[in-house]
Amino acid sequence: MGYPNVMRILVTGGAGFLGSHLCERLLKAGHEVVCLDNLFTGRKGNVSHLLDNKNFEFVRHDVVDPFKAEVDQIYNLACPASPVHYQFNSIKTVKTSVMGAINVLGLAKRVKARVLQASTSEVYGDPSVHPQPESYWGNVNCIGIRSCYDEGKRVAETLFFDYNRQHNLDIRIMRIFNTYGPRMHPNDGRVVSNFIVQALKGVPITIYGEGQQTRSFCYCDDLLEGMVRLMENDKGFIGPCNIGNPGEFTIRELAEKVIALTGSTSKLVFEPLPSDDPKQRRPDITLAKEKLGWEPTIELEEGLKKTIAYFDELLSKGASGYADPAKVDG
Ligand code: NAD
Ligand code: UDP
Repeated sequence: MGYPNVMRILVTGGAGFLGSHLCERLLKAGHEVVCLDNLFTGRKGNVSHLLDNKNFEFVRHDVVDPFKAEVDQIYNLACPASPVHYQFNSIKTVKTSVMGAINVLGLAKRVKARVLQASTSEVYGDPSVHPQPESYWGNVNCIGIRSCYDEGKRVAETLFFDYNRQHNLDIRIMRIFNTYGPRMHPNDGRVVSNFIVQALKGVPITIYGEGQQTRSFCYCDDLLEGMVRLMENDKGFIGPCNIGNPGEFTIRELAEKVIALTGSTSKLVFEPLPSDDPKQRRPDITLAKEKLGWEPTIELEEGLKKTIAYFDELLSKGASGYADPAKVDG
């Protein structure tokens, strides 16, 4: 059965960085959007410009508790994504991933909605296969400080596939690799926003370890294009599908790029490397290319310029209203 052109779509975590861009994009395509968020790391300010739109609805709710909505599609993004924030209340992070997945899957089953899970490259842990294809089962510590997130997301994938096998539920799984862009929280704690905010403030840039670990950074617009293509794909491809930019950089290279692009006088300082920090990460995006005709188009330097412009404006306004999310009880 095909989907109507105009749908009612639920976005959990819709007031977060990626969720708010997704809500905007779905509204622009003419859909009705229900944005559900407990505002742990998201902000109403991310979607305040959408509140006047008659097709947009904001619901403050925690995905750990069941909820009802008559919708055609569900994008499940609710979960803190920054290590600082998912480790702040690690038990809650597991609940959010696992009970959140059970609740969205139960809802999807009841209303026969298609449901997409925002999974993560963290399911590969500290990978021993490089770059990472979807067929790689990963190298994950189940008792470490990152486990609440990694294992929570792995169980969520398991639940999605079990609902697909047991109830024929129409699922999609995308594995997101490090994505950055405007609307990241200035206190988010992830590397791109940290380095840009530090550079713009002229304070030291905090490199964990020696900065030789690598990441591959995807600009948010590219990521969302991949996300929507995976959701809309009707050719039987449900994933898991890596979506990310294969351009790979050391963290030190990233710091140097940010300093060059901001013209900052910030110095580099080296701090201890957190445990289980993956040494390398780069997506193999062969499947996304083949099945979705998707590949990223925005180079790191171009994406960084847009993100720097966003934070520059935000900081010049004093970034008021930006409480530290780690101080909010999630
Ligand atoms: P984010 O922290 O900005 O967004 C997460 C949103 O989920 C926030 O609005 C937060 O308030 C909300 N949320 C958290 N717990 C909730 C709960 N219990 N109930 C309801 N809402 C809750 O992070 P993001 O970068 O926009 O990430 C969005 C999704 O994408 C997450 O699921 C994350 O795991 C996944 N992801 C992101 C990246 C990335 O690099 N940005 C990488 C891999 C996976
Ligand atoms: N990192 C860093 N300085 C910071 C924040 C992060 O050197 O201020 C490093 C971190 O140790 C990791 C990489 O940057 O190796 C990416 O961290 P992030 O928290 O953005 O995401 P991760 O991919 O680790 O989940």
